[in-house]
Amino acid sequence: MAFEGLADRLQNTIQRIKGKGKVTEQDVKEMTREVRLALLEADVNFKVVKDFVKRVKERAVGQEVMESLTPGQQVIKVVKEELTNLMGGDESKIAVAKRPPTVIMMVGLQGAGKTTTTGKLANHLRKKHNRKPMLVAADVYRPAAINQLQTLGKQLDLPVYAKGTDANPVDIANEAIAEAKENHYDYVIIDTAGRLHIDGELMGELQQIKDNVQPDEIFLVVDAMTGQDAVNVAESFDEQLEVSGVVLTKLDGDTRGGAALSIKAVTGKPIKFAGMGEKLDQLEAFHPERMASRILGMGDVLTLIEKAQDNVDEKRAKELEEKMRSASFTFDDFLEQMGQVRNMGPLDELLDMIPGANKMKGLKNAQIDEKQISHVEAIIQSMTKKERQEPSLMNASRKRRIAKGSGTSVSEVNRLLKQFEEMKKMMKQMSNMQKGKKGKGMNF
Ligand code: GDP
Repeated sequence: MAFEGLADRLQNTIQRIKGKGKVTEQDVKEMTREVRLALLEADVNFKVVKDFVKRVKERAVGQEVMESLTPGQQVIKVVKEELTNLMGGDESKIAVAKRPPTVIMMVGLQGAGKTTTTGKLANHLRKKHNRKPMLVAADVYRPAAINQLQTLGKQLDLPVYAKGTDANPVDIANEAIAEAKENHYDYVIIDTAGRLHIDGELMGELQQIKDNVQPDEIFLVVDAMTGQDAVNVAESFDEQLEVSGVVLTKLDGDTRGGAALSIKAVTGKPIKFAGMGEKLDQLEAFHPERMASRILGMGDVLTLIEKAQDNVDEKRAKELEEKMRSASFTFDDFLEQMGQVRNMGPLDELLDMIPGANKMKGLKNAQIDEKQISHVEAIIQSMTKKERQEPSLMNASRKRRIAKGSGTSVSEVNRLLKQFEEMKKMMKQMSNMQKGKKGKGMNF
């Protein structure tokens, strides 16, 4: 999970100060010392840590905290605001050119995730902003890179402008933009060449494309898992090309968070997007405040709601709710609902977005076992249509058949049947309770 180590340490530290009715300078000193260690351990740039701790300390011993009625909570508010500022303050948007198409140039080292992100960004622009993007394969050195972009284009059903490896990247970019204009595409996303290391030749070529094409945005793609290396790469690219924003990939695997917390402070350039997995819909707009909230264990309800809106069909959700109330909920419905939740992302990531969920002992220790969920799916899929609708049909031989078909055991099948019955019973009770309340004229 993203930032796991840092989140654990910071949350332990702030937990101690949270309930204090009086906060002394000594308390602040101890807290900031631990925050400092936590950030350094998370591989945050040394100077960035120093400045951060200084600001928190100044504010924490200042009036806004000391004279507050809830100083402990006030300190946490200061830490959260400063973490937010560190990652960039207000969320950033993508430019829109006065005269379309808006041109976005993607740059970065090989392996950072540039090509994948080009596809993800196009998908994001179309899905979330209703735009018509076109992709451009301007990495003429690696035929594999051109093929990769074409494959992504096919998956997304979006056009890819490519001219093989013989053409010049500047010409390719210019021709692609002309074609986009003609066909009313409003975004052109150019996937440029990457190297394993920064070199003069690569920078010269990127500079040439930039001068000719005059992009509205230059997004630098860096790999979060490389920590301070990512920050150094960002600094060099920015010095030479002046990028407009950073896309931080592989944040899903970054337990430390050093790059996310240092890039804005070191380069002055905001992180605009974060890659949260290999799939084409796993790109999130980067919201510093939401991220700070997640790191401090305060959840991120807004992102959770957005994910639900993206993945759950509201009308269908209402129908399922109604079925639950009337206890006519079947295993088919159950399977459908599980599918919707799973589309929202890995369950442990979703849990992090629920405020306080990480503090509930049971939840934290109950490693969510994706394997067990797959077993449940397999069991339901091995039932006949009739069995899914009428679990009461289930007898010993049917259970044996289902266990065999799903590669599980009869006791697992029994457990699921029991849980399902209990869930239905509970739903019925809740719905009766609500009816009772309504009857008495109470409104909650
Ligand atoms: P490029 O050389 O910079 O164009 O990199 P690619 O787009 O080919 O990506 C390199 C590898 O990183 C591929 O295996 C991608 O699937 C993977 N990748 C890219 N973005 C992410 C991400 O956000 N999370 C994870 N886990 N993997 C990613």
